Amino acid sequence: MGGSTKPALAKATGLSVPAVHKMAASLVDVGLLYETGEEISSGHGRKGRVIGLNPTFRTAIGIEITDLSITGIVLDFAGQVHQEQVIGLSSLRPDHVLATVIRMIQDLQEAARELGPIAGVGIGTHGIAEKGRITRFPGNPDWEPLAITSLVQEATGLPCRLDLRIYAATVSELRFGRRYGFPGPIFYFNSGPGNGFATGIIIHDQVLRGANGLQGQFHHLHMDPQGERCYCGSFGCLGTLTSPQAIQQQAQEALTQTGVDSALRGLPTVDFSSILAAAHKHDKLARHLIEDACTWLGIGFSHVINLLNPSLIVIGGAYAEGGEMILHAIQRSAYRYSESHLLQNLQWSLSTLNHNAAATGAATLLFDRYFQ
Ligand SMILES: [Zn+2]
Repeated sequence: MGGSTKPALAKATGLSVPAVHKMAASLVDVGLLYETGEEISSGHGRKGRVIGLNPTFRTAIGIEITDLSITGIVLDFAGQVHQEQVIGLSSLRPDHVLATVIRMIQDLQEAARELGPIAGVGIGTHGIAEKGRITRFPGNPDWEPLAITSLVQEATGLPCRLDLRIYAATVSELRFGRRYGFPGPIFYFNSGPGNGFATGIIIHDQVLRGANGLQGQFHHLHMDPQGERCYCGSFGCLGTLTSPQAIQQQAQEALTQTGVDSALRGLPTVDFSSILAAAHKHDKLARHLIEDACTWLGIGFSHVINLLNPSLIVIGGAYAEGGEMILHAIQRSAYRYSESHLLQNLQWSLSTLNHNAAATGAATLLFDRYFQ
């Protein structure tokens, strides 16, 4: 989120230069914008002073909850991440998750306060988020609804908003990801490190919201009636075949139940990252597991292509660590099952954001009210 000059803003918005001057002056007065002191060319050989979002106007704490870990960041008003923490979850009980989140917010509060007034805490969670409560959570079928926003507010004194992790991550992709200039639809896939992944849809620079705010449940596309039970209560969901945790389990089963020769056998822990790394080195078992998962994912993507006719598909999260190998394996399968006319002009990309995309997106949503 770099700065811009007033003539450049006038050109981008269609407003007159005097109108932009007036508007910018009032936003500088309230502290939302500031003049950076830098000067850049604004055309016709003239230089213009750069104005940008004032990083100290407000800060926000962003939290991502997955079934493996909690990630927390401090974000300034200009979109810069200042501090990050990741804590592994030793239990998926609601009281443990809540206590870990509150402890992390309390740790980050001081760093946030040093940067500027804190706008609040934004949380993006796996599972189902409804009206400030987490009502379903992957990995814990006995999860009791957790009124997390009111409990966090009570414990920290900070306003708190809750969204789906995927909504927050998609907002992050839209605001901080690579700019493509596509009108859309853009289909964004983001896998967490454990049992959950989901998808977001961007159309005309807006992230789509479903009627109940529960869009993008790609994890629960039904694939196999005879398949394993999913945490949603159904059977054979796409996530039961392809989530990083499912692949990890498949690897462990193959290693313990067969005599397969694999580099994974010598590792102290076999996680999704190590399986991806082994697949890159052409380990036969790792390669087979990843390609199998990508075939299922490609079938899932073909349904999306046929339904949505997207202009761009972005792969983010844990799967993006696999780079071009993952992208090509998913594409091969998706192209096999999609209507060929819909593949013309379709582009694919790996997300350029790192693992804190959802926490950053959850935090930046707290700044929206200052622009309304
Ligand atoms: Zn499911």
